[in-house]
Amino acid sequence: MKEFSQFVNSLSKDWTLFLDRDGVINKRLPDEYVKSIEEFDFLEGVTESLQILSKIFGRIIVISNQQGIGKKLMTIETLDSIHNQMITDVSKDGGRIDKVYFCPDLADKPDNCRKPNSEMAFQAKKDFPEIDFNKSLMIGDSASDIEFGKRLQMKTIFIGKSSDSSADFEFSSLLEFTQILVNELDSLEKKGSIC
Ligand SMILES: [Mg+2]
Repeated sequence: MKEFSQFVNSLSKDWTLFLDRDGVINKRLPDEYVKSIEEFDFLEGVTESLQILSKIFGRIIVISNQQGIGKKLMTIETLDSIHNQMITDVSKDGGRIDKVYFCPDLADKPDNCRKPNSEMAFQAKKDFPEIDFNKSLMIGDSASDIEFGKRLQMKTIFIGKSSDSSADFEFSSLLEFTQILVNELDSLEKKGSIC
């Protein structure tokens, strides 16, 4: 984990955390879309993790493909209300999500805004000009999330189990990443005080 330790050492408030939503923040519904607040279920330890990550990263941005909109399975208003509730719940536990970007396009639409395309990242950069893609981390549970991050020269973390992931690092969950990150920060601090 030497490389991970170097990565952790480079982190500062100049860094932005980009998060995929389904499968990273909330439970992914098999072959289904989350179409209502009732169907939105946080994964274990996510709000607690975001409370910690909010202190480490200057910006936290959620980037999500939501073609359920393009398929007319839900409205943008419903999706907005799901996201408002998600942001409120994260805030209640002391964390922060600065903004959510979603792409409503169908996957077969030419020139769509879906990950791995960079459009949602450029929207975020427009709203938050301080975002530096070279000081950004993308965390996702799909190959398209990792590809999205790589195209922008971000660091990448794959959530789940994949033997062929090209991500920089892999963890089983956002919670596991956060716990190992905290341990690493603690040991770096100890090393710093010894030297
Ligand atoms: Mg996902």
